[in-house]
Amino acid sequence: MIEKSITSGWQTIGHERVVSKLTNHILSGQLRHSYLFSGPPSIGKNTLANDFAKAICCIDNLGDPCGLCRPCKLISASKHPDVVEISPRVSGKAIVQKKLSVDEIRNTIYRFTLNPVELDRRIAIINNFETAGRMASDALLKTLEEPPGDSIFIISTNQESSVADTILSRCVVFNLSPTPFPVVEQALIKVWGATKQEAHFLARVSGGRIGWAIKLLTDNKALESRSQKLVEMLELLSFSRVRRFAYVEDLRKDRQQAVTTLALWEGLWRDVMITSVDTNGTEISNIDYKTEIHEVASQVDITNIVKTLSAIHKTQRALHKNANARLALEVLMLQIPLVRHVN
Ligand SMILES: [Zn+2]
Repeated sequence: MIEKSITSGWQTIGHERVVSKLTNHILSGQLRHSYLFSGPPSIGKNTLANDFAKAICCIDNLGDPCGLCRPCKLISASKHPDVVEISPRVSGKAIVQKKLSVDEIRNTIYRFTLNPVELDRRIAIINNFETAGRMASDALLKTLEEPPGDSIFIISTNQESSVADTILSRCVVFNLSPTPFPVVEQALIKVWGATKQEAHFLARVSGGRIGWAIKLLTDNKALESRSQKLVEMLELLSFSRVRRFAYVEDLRKDRQQAVTTLALWEGLWRDVMITSVDTNGTEISNIDYKTEIHEVASQVDITNIVKTLSAIHKTQRALHKNANARLALEVLMLQIPLVRHVN
């Protein structure tokens, strides 16, 4: 599949089932007005959305992006006049967070009422829809109810549960799962020049999220920061409530950092669960913290492991919904079990 992805112009690694369905939609002339890709951060949603836009516009018209024609190249460079991509922008000073701008969404919707410049349709790629506020969400909903012309909206989100049902019901929804470790490994070696050892390590550490694996391969700071956050999490387990709340005070100031940190914690606790129930053959992700993970698993029973994971998920949803970050994180601190020092 990787070979096919490269030769056919799909940059997407894995997600074969979704790619094949999208190709079928194009080839059978059954394109819908709105698509939604949901799945954890860095799993390949943005790449897939861009590939899909190229495949729709490609002059080869074979259901794949050729990667070489004018529309494919312009979309790759984010310069196509009929394809607009909207991503959250950083806002706030005291509390840093990224949000989709309602003005940007409204401007896009306005442009969609005008005739396209080069194509026979307009396409909007909207990333991280979980960061859309009520007004942005309502503005988009109105358009999805009566989409102009042959327009197509390709929306992606890290958190499907924070997207309004009224929007979900108008989209063809694809849930993206982590890519199997061997596929990530091969891609890291063949496309990004990783060594065999690096690829083996990063495929697992990333939990099959290809974007995260590439980031860890190409950015040493990301790897350091991951280790630091995992060590902090492990230390935190033995902390009193007062020290845990002091930690939250720092974490809450950057919502994006908090979201990244929680994703790492989620991975760590999933590993604790795998270790605790001893599922035959399921590999843990954080293989470099195997000893610590075993130690936590030996001290916390399965009911509390499941409760902790569910508390982390709940906090992630709260942060995506722009709830009070301090409150959400403090509640989480009260739910994480106390464990004797493990590292
Ligand atoms: Zn092309």
